Amino acid sequence: MPDLPSADLGAPSRQDAEGVMMRWMQPLVIEGEVRTCPECDVYRDWIVFCLRDDSVWLRCPAGHQVQEPHLDAAWFNRNSGPVDHWHPTLEDGLRHLGH
Ligand SMILES: [Zn+2]
Repeated sequence: MPDLPSADLGAPSRQDAEGVMMRWMQPLVIEGEVRTCPECDVYRDWIVFCLRDDSVWLRCPAGHQVQEPHLDAAWFNRNSGPVDHWHPTLEDGLRHLGH
């Protein structure tokens, strides 16, 4: 029997991905407040990343990225639905999402 790593409970392909992401078109409300980009004040059409360390990042349409400490992988999974695409790099995922 091959000695397979058993600790990872996620989808096997996640091991190859830098993270997962989704497009978030509507205003993003966190703890009752609409999140805005600290750089350009945009409040919608985010790309939301969930990286392998379970941190969640927001990317505005202008390309500013900011970590969102109030969100985590559990939140992402509740809101993203089934992930149908895994991307080897964030750039590849952004192209897929049209950003
Ligand atoms: Zn911005």
